[in-house]
Amino acid sequence: MNAPHAPAHALMNIAARPDAVMVRGEGSWLEDAAGRRYLDFVQGWAVNCLGHAHPAIAQALAKQAATVVNPGPAFFNAPAIELAGKLAALSGLDQAFLCNTGAEANEGAIKLARKWGQLHRNGAFEIITFGDAFHGRTLATMSASGKPGWDRIFAPQVPGFPKAVLNDLDSVEALIGPNTVAVMLEPIQGEAGVQPAELDFLRALRALCDARGLLLILDEVQTGIGRTGTLFRFEAAGITPDILTLAKGIGGGVPLAALLARESACCFVHGDQGGTYCGNPLMAAVGNAVIDIVAAPGFLAGVRDAGEAMAAGLRVLSKKHGLGEVRGAGLLLALDLGPARNAGALVERARDAGLLLNAPRPHTLRLMPALNVSTAEIELMLTMLDKVLAGA
Ligand SMILES: *Cc1c(COP(=O)(O)O)cnc(C)c1O
Repeated sequence: MNAPHAPAHALMNIAARPDAVMVRGEGSWLEDAAGRRYLDFVQGWAVNCLGHAHPAIAQALAKQAATVVNPGPAFFNAPAIELAGKLAALSGLDQAFLCNTGAEANEGAIKLARKWGQLHRNGAFEIITFGDAFHGRTLATMSASGKPGWDRIFAPQVPGFPKAVLNDLDSVEALIGPNTVAVMLEPIQGEAGVQPAELDFLRALRALCDARGLLLILDEVQTGIGRTGTLFRFEAAGITPDILTLAKGIGGGVPLAALLARESACCFVHGDQGGTYCGNPLMAAVGNAVIDIVAAPGFLAGVRDAGEAMAAGLRVLSKKHGLGEVRGAGLLLALDLGPARNAGALVERARDAGLLLNAPRPHTLRLMPALNVSTAEIELMLTMLDKVLAGA
């Protein structure tokens, strides 16, 4: 039973949440119904790349809502055509399927790879994924994920996702067999606590996939759209995947995702893929507004500068309080607290002090502010975190 003061009695109890009800936001700030303000370095799990209530997103929504919200997926619409064109041009891939969530984009990537395997690899269907990976919460994407325990919660799993070890090329090669069609990974594992795939490992995987005739699928749901300081993380490694998935930042806070692929891998025929809301112009209009800002000259240099300032500040705090490693790239950073400090408890104390942080692992903090976060906001976050750490 819900506690008597529970704010939302009819909502399924799917997560531990504080009683606060969030009512408005602006930039890096979120405000609850009691008028308390929070400096938000979670931003809906790296979703609100332009912060809360960005005027460009509000305008795109209002304009499109007053024009046409839903002609239906049986017709083309202008914002979807425009967004697919922009994403293809910016990523170096050829075609896009627009959808609503990261899990849906990854589910589509899995289907596309299996279809390609039927056509070109004698029905090969296995996709090598990685321990501790996170690809979403549908049955197939949970099976592709390597979260401990997820193989049992909703057993039986969807078969065909053998697990390799991140940054261990031999572990990937050892899993390749006649049924293998693809290798799929996050270039930086986000939910695992910001664990980067080494750039050499990404390059080696690209070469391995080329040599063995396999597809390389990159899940950039969390790392894409400027989060790591380049528009896509794969740019840092100088490679291009065959299939790419995007979500989170691409919608700046609204449900929007994309599956992109090289022309040679675009093998869906009519009826293979779709969805009632897939490619709807309301969300696509927001995607266009977000891309225009994030890909504009100078924006990503700002992300890199802010990321360096945040990393430097976190390293100072780590040294001062005897904590562990600072990891990640751009504005996707983790701070290991060491075995003595519980990250979940620290997140709660920070929230009470008006700072929103995330704990993807029991002893790891993750920081993923808006990409347009200011230097002053980063300094304020560091000051607040310093106080919370000192009080621990
Ligand atoms: C968040 C996330 C997903 C799932 O996205 P949803 O929109 O929650 O379905 C998939 N992959 C990665 C890497 C993610 O961070």
